[in-house]
Amino acid sequence: MNLVVVSNRVSRGKPNEPMTGGLAAALLPIVEKSGAIWVGSSGRVRDGNQKEPFAEIEALGAGALAMLDLPAAHYGGYYEGFANSALWPALHSRADLIRASHEDYLSYREVNAFMARALLRFRKSDSAFWIQDYHFLALGAELRDLGVTEPIGFFLHTPWPARSVIGGVPHHRELIEAMLAYDLIGFQTEEDCENFLSYAQADLGLAVHDGVILSRHGRTRAAVFPIGIDPQQFAQLATKASTHPDVSRLRRSLNGEKLAIGVDRLDYSKGLINRIKAFDRMWTLHPSLARTVSLLQIATPSRGAIEAYGNLQSDVAKLVSDVNGVHGEVDWTPIRYLNKGYGQAVLAGLYRTAQVGVVTPLQDGMNLVAKEYVAAQNPVDPGVLVLSKFAGAANELDTALLVNPHDIDGMARIIAMALSMPLTERRMRWEAMMAKLRGHTIQQWFADFTDALRECQLDRDALA
Ligand code: UDP
Repeated sequence: MNLVVVSNRVSRGKPNEPMTGGLAAALLPIVEKSGAIWVGSSGRVRDGNQKEPFAEIEALGAGALAMLDLPAAHYGGYYEGFANSALWPALHSRADLIRASHEDYLSYREVNAFMARALLRFRKSDSAFWIQDYHFLALGAELRDLGVTEPIGFFLHTPWPARSVIGGVPHHRELIEAMLAYDLIGFQTEEDCENFLSYAQADLGLAVHDGVILSRHGRTRAAVFPIGIDPQQFAQLATKASTHPDVSRLRRSLNGEKLAIGVDRLDYSKGLINRIKAFDRMWTLHPSLARTVSLLQIATPSRGAIEAYGNLQSDVAKLVSDVNGVHGEVDWTPIRYLNKGYGQAVLAGLYRTAQVGVVTPLQDGMNLVAKEYVAAQNPVDPGVLVLSKFAGAANELDTALLVNPHDIDGMARIIAMALSMPLTERRMRWEAMMAKLRGHTIQQWFADFTDALRECQLDRDALA
């Protein structure tokens, strides 16, 4: 199988540069080893009508990266518009934040059609396509319109919400019908998969049996493939990072004080405001914890051109400043707030330095930071993961301290509990989480999805 993987952005992923998100972090090692070609945007745009889309191609291990310049006239409407101001909020159950015009939708469809045309040049006789994430819901249908008959799979890295919420997306019906051109649709959790099947059955009136939807496109299988990480590689990164200057300086600056860490893109789905309020509450309820624990919050800038993100940036900055103003001392800052990105080679060391990892999204497809925090711990003295029950990762990491991110008092109590957890309990919980991470690695995720895609092809051949 000549696999063509497609995502919005292709990232070369230098270890010292921040990743553009979980997806990029996950895909690079796979392309390198499997010989797949990974196609996506270069991050640049190009004017005019591109007959032959411009692609920069670079070898990567056994595979290759192809970076395309997307059409300038449609990029904003596609990326900031429909993908991130209509789909992203809806997929994270924030229908109240949907802002997208009809032109944005048309641009989204144009870019999907453009990508389909660009992919034809990577098509071989035994190709299979694997499309990633919400930027390309309609790409499979566009490929079929161009006569592609090879297997096409799709994986959604975000959650899939309840029917009533996805129903808030303009043109939802047309888009979801287009998704049925995929042979296989992968979700992070059972709940996401069930929500999708229930839309297909109840809203589209289609027959659904054992996860297979029958539509005018034929059969589409919907199934669950929780994404993983490479825990061994992350543990090695963390050990190596202990001598990194940023990590050594952090350790020295703590003076025996404990550290909690949060690492998130600055996104409203990540629950940053509630998390900071929980720390505020904890220091108010337990004044003895002032000076004994601080929070290092890395909030990597993201999608800054979108109003909701600009507002969030100022809201978080103001709240951090208020909390520091109230609880801080002349020689103690409760929250160290960093509005920038870090490479994973440093992040791994920062995770390992922190006794508590706080990952408290209001909604999250999986959340790789939660898994990375666990993998980065020192096995003889591991930290405690405080994890939102609304992160996909909570399904596997069920021995983390699970919290409801809407319950500020509850979070405050549980963070305080994490800080005083005895070593034996910390080890027991951590070992159980590591066993899950080792059982569901990124390599396994890749193999499971591509095996299932091959099976879809066999089913289709048998029916033909
Ligand atoms: N990340 C990074 N530098 C940063 C912040 C995050 O490299 O400054 C990486 C992080 O290690 C993780 C990914 O970006 O692999 C974030 O994935 P996650 O699933 O947690 O969230 P997403 O950003 O995809 O919503």
